[in-house]
Amino acid sequence: MNDTLLDRVELDFRQVAPESGRSRIKLKVTNPDPNSILHVGLKAPGPWLDLIPAQFALGPGQHQSVVAELRPDNSSVDGMTASDITLYAQYFTIQNGKAVPGPGDITYEIHVIPPHSACPNCGAELGRTDSATGDTALIGECRKCGERIKLCPICGTPNTWVDRVCRQNPGHILRTQKDWQSSPGGSADHALIPGDRLGRHLARAWSVPFFPTTRMNAILEWSAAVVSYGIVACANLDPERGIAAISGYEAATGVPLWEIELRDASGIYPDRGGLSVSGNLLFAATVGGMVTAIDIIRGVKRWEARTEAGVYAGISASGDNVVIPAGSSLYVLNSTTGDQKFVLPLKGKINAAPAVSTNRVFAASDDCAITAFSLETGALLWTTMTDGPFDASPMVYAETVYSVSTNGTVYAMSPETGAVLWTASIGTRGTAASPIATSLNLLAIVGEDGFIHLLDPATGHTVRSKRVANSPLRCTPASSGGTIFLGADDGCFYSVDQDFNTSLAYETTPGSRIVSAGLAIYGDLIFGTSTNGLLYALRATE
Ligand SMILES: [Zn+2]
Ligand SMILES: [Zn+2]
Repeated sequence: MNDTLLDRVELDFRQVAPESGRSRIKLKVTNPDPNSILHVGLKAPGPWLDLIPAQFALGPGQHQSVVAELRPDNSSVDGMTASDITLYAQYFTIQNGKAVPGPGDITYEIHVIPPHSACPNCGAELGRTDSATGDTALIGECRKCGERIKLCPICGTPNTWVDRVCRQNPGHILRTQKDWQSSPGGSADHALIPGDRLGRHLARAWSVPFFPTTRMNAILEWSAAVVSYGIVACANLDPERGIAAISGYEAATGVPLWEIELRDASGIYPDRGGLSVSGNLLFAATVGGMVTAIDIIRGVKRWEARTEAGVYAGISASGDNVVIPAGSSLYVLNSTTGDQKFVLPLKGKINAAPAVSTNRVFAASDDCAITAFSLETGALLWTTMTDGPFDASPMVYAETVYSVSTNGTVYAMSPETGAVLWTASIGTRGTAASPIATSLNLLAIVGEDGFIHLLDPATGHTVRSKRVANSPLRCTPASSGGTIFLGADDGCFYSVDQDFNTSLAYETTPGSRIVSAGLAIYGDLIFGTSTNGLLYALRATE
């Protein structure tokens, strides 16, 4: 009689194609007894499997369909284990108007096999056999090739962290955020504009460390963060351990993924130093001139190279090229091998990350010059003299090179010839922050006077000038969908919305400053560092 209670004793999800985004198998439970009522309870092996309904009663001869639905989004990375659903059942007979339990409980095990799991990189089986139970589980990293694995939240298929859609079904979206690959400005041309419309308030999603320390020698000195493939990478100087390191965290959660100690303890210059990503590689250059390429997903060193000492600004990686400003020269290295391609000499020191666009590099130097070189040939293309030195990076947007001198003069130049198209002034106190572009097609420039200036990129005309803070704004802002986020010397983050309303968005420690090369944005998360020793992930809310 019990043999006909279940129509199957195994749910094999390896064979199931998801329908409307979900992998489901139906199970039929029948009460075969013509004289009894059957009470049934089902227990799922974990939150990654929903059973609907999980409890029911069946009259004589009745049956019930149970839907078993895979929920990989509820699974921890190593949680989808082949295991069993336990079914409990009990018969009741009606005697003298009362339900009387039948003899003993009935228990069944229904075997569940999650989707098959080959490494998306090397094809190796990701299964891990538990020696005690013989069960197989998915793991967070491929043991054979080291690929970091992300399960599709819809069908459970293993994908890489680079993937934006599931390799099993491109309709399954894994991530939509734009990668923030360089500091400042998010891209090698420093002009990335994510489109997500973000609210103007910020709430802490996570931070490293959780609380500021009061011990002076334990305060980490962070440089600006980059965020790619769901991983935040940020360099820090750790005075307590006496080391310089780069750490990778899961952007959404702050879970530490890897840490690489740099061989040169001079580390990345905290104030204007910055990292850059091209492909899977993250590039960093220490003040002492040690360049390191790291596989950002796996957290392993790929190569090291040397430039001269004196790297006081961010580096810019684009395609095959990594450009490092060292002393008064630009070192151009092959991004895959670290081999030196060119050393491009300037007449002054470089205090700001060069911009790379259309196979050209644009550098601002403290001899008041903006200079362009070809990255194909290393040839000098042009030099344009300006009214002052630069702490701000040039930015290439709408086929124009924009730069702001420490005298507060904004220059718009032709990338082909260096001809000055227009100039404008944001006031005599100048800026150390680079101009950014916004999705409202405006240039946003912040200054030492605590103002934000919004300019028409075609003419240089001021659309709006507004005081944001009572202290200098030295950190390059970041914008997404019309909202601009800023960091100030009073330790606070501010925002400016599409209607130019300014808000105090988040306060860190009084007396600290937000002074790195620039903020970073990934989806609705804003990443910034404070001189209180914290790396912040702040979520934008309405
Ligand atoms: Zn593999
Ligand atoms: Zn999928």
